[in-house]
Amino acid sequence: APGAQSEPETYHHLNVNSSFALLAKRRANATFVILARNSDLNGTVQSVYQIEERFNKKHRYPYVFLNDEPFTEEFKQRISLMTSSLTEFGVIPSQHWNQPDWIDEEKAKKFRDKLVEQDIIYGGSVSYRNMCRFNSGFFFKQELMQKYRWYWRIEPDVNFHCDIDFDPFTFMEDNNKVYGFTITPYEFEATIPSLWGHVQDFMKQHPEYIAQDNAMGFMSNDGGEHYNLCHFWSNFEIADMEFWRAPAYSAFFNYLDSTGGFYYERWGDAPVHSLAAAMFAKKDEIHFFNEIGYGHHPFTHCPRDENVYTKGRCNCDRQQSFDYHGYSCMIHWDKLTGRV
Ligand code: GDP
Ligand code: MN
Repeated sequence: APGAQSEPETYHHLNVNSSFALLAKRRANATFVILARNSDLNGTVQSVYQIEERFNKKHRYPYVFLNDEPFTEEFKQRISLMTSSLTEFGVIPSQHWNQPDWIDEEKAKKFRDKLVEQDIIYGGSVSYRNMCRFNSGFFFKQELMQKYRWYWRIEPDVNFHCDIDFDPFTFMEDNNKVYGFTITPYEFEATIPSLWGHVQDFMKQHPEYIAQDNAMGFMSNDGGEHYNLCHFWSNFEIADMEFWRAPAYSAFFNYLDSTGGFYYERWGDAPVHSLAAAMFAKKDEIHFFNEIGYGHHPFTHCPRDENVYTKGRCNCDRQQSFDYHGYSCMIHWDKLTGRV
């Protein structure tokens, strides 16, 4: 559209021209989603400020903030100062968040104590398990999320290191992508001792859900006998909620949930989402967003390619990029996809 082409490259305040350009620009049916506690306010303001500066002030995609408690007025006010987009604030229903009654608390506690002894991060935390189960099975079921198809997950205290001069949502739409990531590390095996076995059982029970040309080759180095612990780091996700809302993932989540493993072990939403993406999507439907410089403590993805780095006015250190760090799975991804 001519309106979109006449849009100024950058602007800091809304004016007639920029509003017109925004109206004329094509947008996907998409939202940011941020799960946060009231105590995460400063970090959430930081994350929203950065994504606005680096991307969203030109697009005005809306935000959904979710919390297991009502957000404070201060939270809503300070967030609203950061963006001219629609901001909505939801409270998660208790049955989507809390440990279900049928979980054997004694058994759950035994495993928590064991992980504490092994010094595993969040090993003793019930609220962390609530969060992981929520992000695995419930964020896309929240009322405020129903009107959207695409989402970009953001967390408090993350950094966006480069200008994002394209629209990742319309990119996904136009290129038939369902799941996008920036960082892929190894999981702590102690948190998921029985997860791979359940994945194998599920695949046997539901061969009809397994995609042709899937990415399961990324998840195992020995033809599927063992999980290599690779996963997409889900604190950053750009994805299609139709994927999570479809029968394959619903069946998979319900099966995993019925085993109690979110509480009897400490399954993260990252391996759960990743294994599902690897089983139910074609590998071509999973996308590595190289251009998006992104940091979540302690890892940062910084574009290596000089022209991408320069064009994006990136402020990260390319030498510290996680991609080919020893703890990164990126080489496995490259091998699977023939990227390099
Ligand atoms: P990590 O990234 O695995 O270290 O875990 P975080 O502490 O960053 O938690 C992941 C996300 O869930 C972040 O967006 C947090 O703000 C959010 N979160 C974690 N625990 C809770 C909680 O008890 N309540 C709420 N509302 N959000 C939480
Ligand atoms: Mn985090």
